[in-house]
Amino acid sequence: MNNPDISRYHRQYLLPQIGEEGQRKISSSRVVVLGCGALGSILANHLARAGAGWMRIVDRDFVELNNLQRQVLFDEDDIRRNLPKAIAAKEKVEKINSSITVEALVVDVNYANIESLIEGTDLVMDGMDNFETRFVINDACVKNGLPWIYGGCIGTHGITMTIIPGKTPCLRCVFESAPPPELSPTCDTAGVLGPAVNIIASLQATEAIKFLSGNIQALNKTLYTFDAWTHEAKALKIENLHQKINCPTCGQKNFEYLKGEKGSRSASLCGRNAVQISRDEPLNLDFKDLAAKLKRVGEVTYNVFLLKFKTGEYEITLFPDGRAIIQGTHDIAQARTLYSKYVSV
Ligand SMILES: [Zn+2]
Repeated sequence: MNNPDISRYHRQYLLPQIGEEGQRKISSSRVVVLGCGALGSILANHLARAGAGWMRIVDRDFVELNNLQRQVLFDEDDIRRNLPKAIAAKEKVEKINSSITVEALVVDVNYANIESLIEGTDLVMDGMDNFETRFVINDACVKNGLPWIYGGCIGTHGITMTIIPGKTPCLRCVFESAPPPELSPTCDTAGVLGPAVNIIASLQATEAIKFLSGNIQALNKTLYTFDAWTHEAKALKIENLHQKINCPTCGQKNFEYLKGEKGSRSASLCGRNAVQISRDEPLNLDFKDLAAKLKRVGEVTYNVFLLKFKTGEYEITLFPDGRAIIQGTHDIAQARTLYSKYVSV
């Protein structure tokens, strides 16, 4: 992709900061979007329209009705088709811009796979819904010298920061461990305003366009927070944290989150009465056989991407690699029991 279609990107390369050369750089770039919920679907949309030549979209989840309030790439048809978000996003993004290459991966982002997910890319975009995974991303990006753009949103309030390993403070320079309470993943109780997510993701996408077009000096150097309801904005200066504190990640190069020493393989999912179960060793499930077995005890539907099984008040969504999302409980132990009862093969 060295010769972008000038007419498609005309309004973008008219910008003096970008120009034809900047557009060429954007079009030959490789980006990974980690998580394709509210933030991720907006990021993928902007980056596809801006012409990022190659994009990997990673998400573990499938599209549900309560996503449509804010997750701009999805529609009711995706729900009828039981599509995973990564697959639905790839379909939409390819309709928006058929000249770019999009890879969809329906997997959980975790310490075991993060380095392979970011490998071969120029920039990592954070579309995650939990802070723990952001520390995993931070460890992997600092270790591999890859820039990443953090974004988070809860209620009407959002936050973003651009991390260039070796040049700026990393996430752990700023947040040593647990995030402050207002940033904790409580979207199940706090809710989230669709336009607020759009603002934060759009700021992240602007940072991406700056970085990919070579405008490194223009990147955001602050921890920027914005409240869409009150229009209150804060830009905390964080440059002085770089190499001034003994950061475990970028100072000591102790990548604890990549060793799996922190974090778990089962997680209660943000905003939902659901638990995810992942496996250390991926399976290669045959849904046809499993569906035949499960039909005796509940209602089963499946396609090539996922199998849904309803029994009583529970619904188990199973992916071919053995990962499952168990709805109807937020109790991890109970979810594990259900998993071993119905899924273990
Ligand atoms: Zn650091």
